[in-house]
Amino acid sequence: MGAVNKLGEFALIDWMRKSCFCSSGVTKGIGDDTAVLPFSTKEDMLSTTDMSVEGTHFTKGTPPELIGRKALARNLSDIAAMGGTPTYAVISLGLPKTTTTAYVQKIYRGINKLAKQFNVSIVGGDTVKSDKLVINIALLGKVAKGKAVLRSGAKPGDQIFVTGPLGGSFKSGRHLTFTPRLKEAQILMKKFHPAAMIDISDGLAGDLGHILEESKVGAVLDATKIPLHRNVDLKAGLYDGEDFELLFTVRPNDAEKLKQFYRIGAIVKDKNKLYLCGKNDQVILLKTKGFTHF
Ligand SMILES: [Mg+2]
Repeated sequence: MGAVNKLGEFALIDWMRKSCFCSSGVTKGIGDDTAVLPFSTKEDMLSTTDMSVEGTHFTKGTPPELIGRKALARNLSDIAAMGGTPTYAVISLGLPKTTTTAYVQKIYRGINKLAKQFNVSIVGGDTVKSDKLVINIALLGKVAKGKAVLRSGAKPGDQIFVTGPLGGSFKSGRHLTFTPRLKEAQILMKKFHPAAMIDISDGLAGDLGHILEESKVGAVLDATKIPLHRNVDLKAGLYDGEDFELLFTVRPNDAEKLKQFYRIGAIVKDKNKLYLCGKNDQVILLKTKGFTHF
């Protein structure tokens, strides 16, 4: 297969998806924001994991509280993207030998504050020696049986929404301090029956691309309706990563009632095509490639 950067991150994940053993009892395995696993007659279990590495997700200068906070927040965002509630976490740390205990305590202060806020119990983990600081959190969650919102549920005619403004997350530092949209996900689950959902980690165009691919549909975005943060242009709004807002589709009937979030477009039939409709009704075809590690 050659080097992973020749293959690309998503082709690598695709290979894993095809080659990993997975029994037919698994509701949803590789290929969504979290796995969905049978748990009881009333509930499914959600399972996700995220690794944060010095130099990739944060720098030596990033305050340790925020490193810890972000590591958990990214996982929480994935549980929100399934419409679920987080429950238990295990945390693995790779630490350079000279790391001070005060520094580690600060990382955990950041984690614990957020864990308390969202009632997540930290129930285990591992610590190892490492050249760079690495933190991996695996998080479990729960959702009513059969109700997890997958990327594959969008249908032509669905309306596309985001929960908040986009772009400039890295430049502004918001990627370290964002609030995972768990509360918003619960509102959606109770009242608006989202058909497909994902959290925006790779960028609007890239993550919408994942919904289009899994749902085998296309989309038209209205450039004038995409909410942007201050001093952020449309390109950044489309392609910047780590906003961690929820991107979801709802059926037209539900869309009419949904006023508290931003309606930005509609799902269409053309498989994997993402169109952007501009001010003068000019339509262009967009790339759906978002951030990739390789
Ligand atoms: Mg995600």
